[in-house]
Amino acid sequence: MRLLQGYRAVAGGERLPSFAADRSRLDEKIEAADRLLCRCCLCERRCGVDRYNGETGFCGAAREGSYFFEHILWGEEKPLIPSHEIFFTGCNMRCNYCYSWEHVEDPSGGRILAPEEMAGLIDRRSLEGAINVNLIGGEPTVNLPYIFKVLRCLQRPTAIVWNSNFHMSREAMSLLDGVVDLYLGDFRFGNNECAVRLAGTPDYFDAAARNFMAAASSGDLIIRHLLLPGHTDCCLKPIAEWVSRHLPGVPFNLMFQYTPFHRALSCPQMCRSLTEEEEDTARRMVEGLGLNTCLWNTPLKGAAALPSNDNREELKTTITFRPDGRVGIMHLYDDLLDVVKMLGRGYP
Ligand code: SF4
Repeated sequence: MRLLQGYRAVAGGERLPSFAADRSRLDEKIEAADRLLCRCCLCERRCGVDRYNGETGFCGAAREGSYFFEHILWGEEKPLIPSHEIFFTGCNMRCNYCYSWEHVEDPSGGRILAPEEMAGLIDRRSLEGAINVNLIGGEPTVNLPYIFKVLRCLQRPTAIVWNSNFHMSREAMSLLDGVVDLYLGDFRFGNNECAVRLAGTPDYFDAAARNFMAAASSGDLIIRHLLLPGHTDCCLKPIAEWVSRHLPGVPFNLMFQYTPFHRALSCPQMCRSLTEEEEDTARRMVEGLGLNTCLWNTPLKGAAALPSNDNREELKTTITFRPDGRVGIMHLYDDLLDVVKMLGRGYP
């Protein structure tokens, strides 16, 4: 099996991204996406509001997209780096541990760029060495029509990575076909009940499973799962079993960097780190099912800090002191690294 063959060819400059090879299809897709916006059904919530004419639905996203942070990242799976991440505002889920909830739950403070300006930014990051543009959020799907307009304005061939919670509608999924080079899917919950309880999201598992099947036949795919404390049997197990049954061979990245933020800080079950036993059990479970873990991320411990730059106001460093005595740091900038080294034994 040649891993991520199509994506690697685009990211390595051997061939054009699909959308760039046929821009007329992108024009048709933009028209179709705008039609979906008129009675919004971009995601499985199907709010039915007229976002094209100023109404907003559950995600709060407007007709044109906005973003709250962008940078070149070196901490993703190896074939993806250096990756130009753009964090769009608005999301169709409400995970109680969300680390960027201020921008996700209220998109009104996002930075708005015209599609040509955003495309210019992506082209500049590509010239600086990014091998893809990694569209994330919040959730990129709620900004899909805007993102398509941005892609139409790109001057440089850029691999498109759709970094999503996979709760998009069938219609949105079919519009992404032929545009996305690599789906980076976050399979968050292994059953519909946990998705409702922890993220206020109905029908999550069924919709995500359907979309993962569609993604596998549309482009390259990496499935991620962030292990949650106390959710090995109810969430990881059904996800890992589903992947082994339906998408064997698809790279599966089990992530251990759970940190309680937002409402999880006042939820006794969620306000703790993973235990070593939980991590070991999860690792054995995934390996026992024979999942493809070749792209397993290196743990965040030891990861590079963010370069200090003009965007730091949008992504504030957050330090949490947890009841179990551990200290969590999100969005560490390089000029704070020495302080952390002095404070933390053995970190990073
Ligand atoms: S993208 Fe989803 S949550 Fe947002 S308005 Fe449309 S259907 Fe509702």
